[in-house]
Amino acid sequence: MNKKDYYEVLGVPKTASQDEIKSAFRKLAKKYHPDVSKEENAAEKFKEAQEAYAVLSDESKRRQYDQFGHSAFTNAQGGFSGFEGFNFGGMDDILDEVLRGFGFSSGSRRSAGSMRSRGSDVLYHMDLTFDEAVYGTKKDIDVDIIDTCEYCHGDGGFNSKTCSECRGSGTVTRQQNTLFGSFLTKTTCPTCNGTGSVYEKICDKCKGKGRIKKKKKITVTVPKGVDTNNRLRLEGKGEAGNNGGVNGDLYIEFTVRDHDLFKRVDDDIYLDLPITIPEAVLGCKKEIPTLYGKVDLSIPAGTKANAKLKLKSKGVENVLSHKKGDMYVIIEVLIPDRITKEEKKLYESLKEISKNEHPFLNKIKKFLNN
Ligand SMILES: [Zn+2]
Ligand SMILES: [Zn+2]
Repeated sequence: MNKKDYYEVLGVPKTASQDEIKSAFRKLAKKYHPDVSKEENAAEKFKEAQEAYAVLSDESKRRQYDQFGHSAFTNAQGGFSGFEGFNFGGMDDILDEVLRGFGFSSGSRRSAGSMRSRGSDVLYHMDLTFDEAVYGTKKDIDVDIIDTCEYCHGDGGFNSKTCSECRGSGTVTRQQNTLFGSFLTKTTCPTCNGTGSVYEKICDKCKGKGRIKKKKKITVTVPKGVDTNNRLRLEGKGEAGNNGGVNGDLYIEFTVRDHDLFKRVDDDIYLDLPITIPEAVLGCKKEIPTLYGKVDLSIPAGTKANAKLKLKSKGVENVLSHKKGDMYVIIEVLIPDRITKEEKKLYESLKEISKNEHPFLNKIKKFLNN
């Protein structure tokens, strides 16, 4: 993947302070903000800067990025964003400030109809079985999404022609007569909204908006190792942008169902294993399931109740680092509720010959004899 280094995107050293990062982003936002920039590829460059800033301005994401690079947030199918999406803290303030610098009042970029804007991000909830989350899977989903209207290709109409009211200038001059004489004022052309052109026919599928709500089938490749509340980012699969703005992103948020046998804690797997008293005392071999097939587990003689036996690297493969967690087998020693006559005889003779010389028991005896 030829993704540019986030530090390079913002033009700051790896040691940059939060203030330096903020001021570098502010400069880039001024240069490339799609509502005001005339630079080539402004929208792409702006998005790049936004993404870099979202990561580097958040200390914990920055740490992940320093450690794992882009693979901390992306994989071949799209982006993997760990626990939360890029929902940019403090970024709106900077952008409002940048726009104000260009003479837009705060919030104007949202209301102005003819302005270019990025499409909204969309969040989709996906249920996964334990296995699907551990081993990864592919799933087709239907998402209700605002997409570019395919009838007018997002233009909102057909056969563009020069606006007759403003003759293509986008502004109209009005004469105002007052007590002090007449004034000429220039305002945005109301017919074409300042674009200078109008359509002969408005698209009736999207009512001229250029965007339309539709059901979209998307194939999602779920990477190995996702867990509940993880979010996968599919870049550009969100809502269509307005007036040529870039698309938003689609976030898939997972909920993973429990397994019948295994319990998962982060990347580690736990399995309860009941054994009998003789098995605990004498030791035994047990066939157990793991995420990667059957294993013969040796339980040593003298294993205590609640003992934790570790199977290294038999846990879940981490979605970011691809390192496997461990598996733990928790031993439960069964004390029988009911025993057969034969067992009773054996337990009784065992009781006769078993010595209990625990130091704490000696303490109790001493206490009682005083
Ligand atoms: Zn006009
Ligand atoms: Zn249309």
